[in-house]
Amino acid sequence: MASNILSRLQKLRRNLADNALDGMFVSQEDNRHYLSGFLGTAGSLLITAREAVLATDFRYIEQAGIQAPDYRIVQISATSPDWFAKLTADLNIKRLGFEAGDITFSRHRQLSESILGTNSQLELVPTEGTVEAIRMVKEPEEIEFMSSAAGIADKAVEHARKVIHAGLKEKELAWEIEKFMRESGSQSLPFEVIVASGPNAALPHARPSERRIGNNEPVVIDIGARIHGYCSDLTRTICLEEPNGGDPKFKQVYAIVLKAQSAAITGITKGTTGRDADALARKIIEDAGYGKAFGHSLGHGVGLDEHEQPCLGPNSKDVLTDNMVFTVEPGIYLSGWGGIRIEDLVVLENGKIRPLSKVAK
Ligand code: ZN
Ligand code: ZN
Repeated sequence: MASNILSRLQKLRRNLADNALDGMFVSQEDNRHYLSGFLGTAGSLLITAREAVLATDFRYIEQAGIQAPDYRIVQISATSPDWFAKLTADLNIKRLGFEAGDITFSRHRQLSESILGTNSQLELVPTEGTVEAIRMVKEPEEIEFMSSAAGIADKAVEHARKVIHAGLKEKELAWEIEKFMRESGSQSLPFEVIVASGPNAALPHARPSERRIGNNEPVVIDIGARIHGYCSDLTRTICLEEPNGGDPKFKQVYAIVLKAQSAAITGITKGTTGRDADALARKIIEDAGYGKAFGHSLGHGVGLDEHEQPCLGPNSKDVLTDNMVFTVEPGIYLSGWGGIRIEDLVVLENGKIRPLSKVAK
């Protein structure tokens, strides 16, 4: 049995015992992949104290056997939910946790109807963030994959700095970056490359447009690569300066955002809460008079998903501990002018932050 799958299952089983659950129904795609190794896009896991079953349909049966050797594979119908009642009865499950954040209202109704008669004693218990909490703390191999993905994003930014010039369209630069990352070994990108120039840079999640990049304006580039399923997330904001000087406002705002980011990177230690981490950077931006212009959280966990737990934000009670991987990404956005965001991917190790990307200067 693959040792990482075994230890992940052990953690989940401990959680089941703590919550008096006989089993867990895992439907969320990344969670399913994490707990089994299975990469198919349809299928469900049923995990009890002793059993680990992967139920999937004809299309994925062979793949499931290869990718999830630790699981008993059960072939089910892609169109009828009847298997659910039979399988939960066979496994003697009375209280079954399901992922409330993933199961839709209609799927829940379908499952509830399917157990009537066959396994009517089954209680479906909503759970939240169970597997996600296990995923928060990374294994060495996961950190290595993200480090490689961060390296590709770093190189892509270097490439972008070489090819960017006034008159280039945002979309053209975005495609250059995307092509570069794919050719450097990234799997399909976790999210669309963001290139936002001038006033567009005031929108934290702008999409690349036909706008032509100009001199003396901020250009936000937010990109991620993916290696073995694991993402990276990196933002740089650059400004094409004219020979006679550049934009003093850009330099002034950039220095504040960079100072805020450094304060968080050096200040976060083992045990810092998501709220306190956020406050480290937010205080500097507020003191500089831009508090209202930093309208999002400081950062987020990264793993199989580009946005996962923990959250580093004003309302987050998450406690940061060793081997968590997350972003540190303060920003200042000024409507009409543009914005500056600086984002690096980091891991908390031995109580201190170790950047996985080349930290911004
Ligand atoms: Zn990002
Ligand atoms: Zn991010």
